[in-house]
Amino acid sequence: VVSWLRDLGTRVEVDRVGNITGTWPPDGFEPAVLVGSHIDSVRAGGRYDGALGVLAGIEVLETLISGGVETARPVAVASFTDEEGSRFPPDMLGSLVAVGGMSLEEALDVTAPDGAVLGDELARIGYSGASPCLLAVAPAAYIELHVEQGPRLEHAGVPIGAVTGVQGISWAEITVSGQANHAGTTPMDLRRDAGHVAASIATYVRTLCDRLGPSQLATVGRIELAPNLVNVVAGSAVLTVDLRNTDDDALAEAERLLAVRCAELAADEHVTITTRTLARYAPVEFDPEAVALVEAVSAGLGLASMRLPSGAGHDAQMLARVCPAGMIFVPSAGGISHNPAEHTDDEYLEAGANVLLRCVLHLAGAVTP
Ligand SMILES: [Zn+2]
Repeated sequence: VVSWLRDLGTRVEVDRVGNITGTWPPDGFEPAVLVGSHIDSVRAGGRYDGALGVLAGIEVLETLISGGVETARPVAVASFTDEEGSRFPPDMLGSLVAVGGMSLEEALDVTAPDGAVLGDELARIGYSGASPCLLAVAPAAYIELHVEQGPRLEHAGVPIGAVTGVQGISWAEITVSGQANHAGTTPMDLRRDAGHVAASIATYVRTLCDRLGPSQLATVGRIELAPNLVNVVAGSAVLTVDLRNTDDDALAEAERLLAVRCAELAADEHVTITTRTLARYAPVEFDPEAVALVEAVSAGLGLASMRLPSGAGHDAQMLARVCPAGMIFVPSAGGISHNPAEHTDDEYLEAGANVLLRCVLHLAGAVTP
């Protein structure tokens, strides 16, 4: 990405948390129209999640530059660090730091489950940059092209999504401490079984969805038991809970109910349960003009569009704190994402990139020679 941005002649900057930007023209320092996304992925991820928004942004810049199009405002492409956050939580860490939502020092100290420290890893790969803060000047606007990662556009047969906002996210890491013991000699009523409690939490979060309605989502994506052996009662368990809702009050209620249930389980099984918040973001609504712009641009290109909220978190929700922000979605085949089978047809990739280009031309003010 950096070499492509350099080849285009953009001003390439890497900030201290590794966020990369390429700005055109290189001497443009006033608030830019920013596009972009991220190029990190989850461990078993696909090739479109994030990368599409960055590569389409580079394509937009290349189109402007090769066409000799001058804009009233600079245009910049960003690739944000650690959007996924599955190794270094929270998710959207790079864009969160860029908008001032987390201190640089705190971010660089984030430690992964494998013991790696973010600041050390950035230095190791050469992306502990020199720029003090990516967004010392807030952008004029931010638009992000991304794959939907869900089934709604494909199901509706619509190529473009005008994203209205992002649902709230709550991530917790729960540690259960019990007593490892022999599976054959320990009576059931004397067990302090961390594995049983972890499984109970995993099944309980499903009931929150029945209770709070279809907008409530709940996932236990990671459970680690120790010692993790067939004939030993688990002495400890670490699990993660991912709760999401478009309604912040409902999300807070889900968190409260989970905390109550954990306290009950701890008392019943004589274990201790501690909870660490890994990420907590309120729902975000995108700029109404940005949403309308995506719709209008799509219509102008003869592309059908529909409004929809995002189920996943995105860098755009962080940028929405400091500038008008919006997103363009294109369909994900089968609604599959965070999976190597993730796929979006070329025609949709091209359609999305063209919508992005027209949004940029509108927002940056194309100067007709
Ligand atoms: Zn993404």
